[in-house]
Amino acid sequence: MTVEVRLPVVALVGRPNVGKSALFNRITGRRVALVEDQPGTTRDRIYGEAEWTGTRFRVVDTGGVDESGRIPFAALVREQVLQAVAEADVILFVVDAREGITAADEEIATLLRPVEKPVILVANKADNEERRQAAVQFWELGVGEPAPVSAFHASGLADLLDQVVPLLPRAEPAPVEAGARIAIVGRPNVGKSMLLNAILGEERVIVSEIPGTTRDAIDTRFEHRGQPVTLVDTAGIRRRGRIERGVERHSVMRARQAIDRADVALLVMDATEPAAAQDTHIAGYVKDAHKGLVLVVNKSDLLPGGPAARQEVERRVRAEFHFVPWAPVVFVSAKAREGLAAMLDAALAAYEQRQLRIPTAEVNALVRRAVTEHPPPTVRGRRLKVFYATQAEVNPPTFVFFVNDTALVHFSYQRYLENSIRRMFGFTGTAIRLVFRNRSGEE
Ligand code: GDP
Ligand code: GDP
Repeated sequence: MTVEVRLPVVALVGRPNVGKSALFNRITGRRVALVEDQPGTTRDRIYGEAEWTGTRFRVVDTGGVDESGRIPFAALVREQVLQAVAEADVILFVVDAREGITAADEEIATLLRPVEKPVILVANKADNEERRQAAVQFWELGVGEPAPVSAFHASGLADLLDQVVPLLPRAEPAPVEAGARIAIVGRPNVGKSMLLNAILGEERVIVSEIPGTTRDAIDTRFEHRGQPVTLVDTAGIRRRGRIERGVERHSVMRARQAIDRADVALLVMDATEPAAAQDTHIAGYVKDAHKGLVLVVNKSDLLPGGPAARQEVERRVRAEFHFVPWAPVVFVSAKAREGLAAMLDAALAAYEQRQLRIPTAEVNALVRRAVTEHPPPTVRGRRLKVFYATQAEVNPPTFVFFVNDTALVHFSYQRYLENSIRRMFGFTGTAIRLVFRNRSGEE
C-alpha cells in the first residue's frame, strides 16, 4: 500500500474575467497544474498546489471555459459554484473591484450565502489605493468583508492567504491500493466471464473479493509477474446477462462504471465478430475517459489455423479502431487458456506508460520544434501561439499548453501535437490528455 496525502482544497469561483486564472497563477506560482475530468460536464477544472506558511493545499479553478458554448451562462455559473461547494474546504469568491457589483455577482452570492463552508470575498483588480477603498461596496453582497487584492501587482495576497490557512483542515493521509487497476469490459457473450476465470486460475490471487467504491462492485486482487493487479468489478463480470430487455443497456452502464474506476481497460471482443458497433462505442468511452486500452480478440481458437485469418481480423480491428491507434491488439483464447500472460503484459505496459513523466524542458523543446516544423494555421487572421507547455500530471498523462487564445486551437492541430508527443515519448497503450489554457494575468 502506498499512502497519498489528501490536501485541503481552496476553490476559486466567480464570473468570467474577474481574474480567477490570474489569481490561480499567483497563488500556485504555476508550479503544477493538473486537470481533472468531470464526467457529465463540459468544463475542465484546473488544479494546482500551493504552500503558505508551511501549509500545503490545492487550489482549484472551477471556472474553465465552456468551449461548446451550448450551455446557458446561469447554468454554468451554478454548476461551478455547486462543484466548488462540494469539493472545497474554503471558497474564494472573486469579484472585480474595477467594475463593481454585477448581476452575475449577485447570483453567485445568492448561491453562496446559505453555504456552511467558509467563503472569503476577494475583490481583485484593486490595483491602487482608490480601488482598495472602493472595495467596501462589496459588503452589499452579504457574504462578509471583501479582501482587496491585485493579481497584477501580487498585492493583498499575503493577507488573503493568512486568512485562508487557519480555515483549512489538516491534511490527512488516505490509503491507496498499489498497482494497476484493470477493467474487463465488452459486449455480453464475448467471453469476459470465462476470461476472468482463466486469469484467476493461473495467477496467484492475493485477496479475492474486496468491496469497491460502487455499491455491489467487488474487485479482485492478484499478482502478475510479482506485480499487484486489481481487477475492477469482478462481480459485474460474473453476473451473467439474463435474457431480458434492457440488459444490453445495463451492461454498458456497468462497463462505464468499471472503466471510470480503472487505469486500463481490456476490451474483450469475439474473434468471429470483432469490432461491432458496441465495441467501438466502449473504446470511445475509454478514450474520452483518458484510460489505457488493450483490444483483446477472444475465441481466437475459433479462427482458421495459419496467420492469414488473424491478419485479416487484425486489419479489420485496426480499421474500425482507427481513433485509438496507440492501443495494442492481442489474440487470446479464454477456453484454451492461450495468450493470457501476453494480454496482462500489454495491460501492465500501458499502466507503466501512464506513469511516464517528461521533464518540462523536454516538453517545451519538443513543442517548439513541432510548431516550427508545422506552424498552426491562421484563423481569421490570427495565429495560435504556444507560450509554454508542461506535463502537469501522470495517470493519465496530462499536458497543459499555455496559449494566446484557446479559441484558436483547432482539433487537427491538437492531434498533430499529440502525435508529435507520442512519436517522441511513446505513451503506447494509453490515452493522453491535452489541455489548453489562456495565459492571462501575466506579462
Ligand atoms: P477569469 O476569467 O476570472 O479566469 O479571469 P482572468 O484571470 O483570465 O483575467 C481576466 C482579465 O483581467 C485579464 O485581461 C487579466 O489580465 C485581467 N486581470 C486579472 N487580474 C487583474 C488585476 O489584478 N488587475 C488588473 N488591472 N487586471 C487584472
Ligand atoms: P460474457 O458474457 O462476456 O461473460 O461471456 P462468457 O464468458 O459467459 O462466454 C460466452 C460464451 O462464449 C460461452 O458459451 C463460452 O463458453 C464461450 N467462450 C468464451 N471464451 C471462449 C473462447 O476463448 N473460445 C471459445 N470457443 N468459446 C469461448
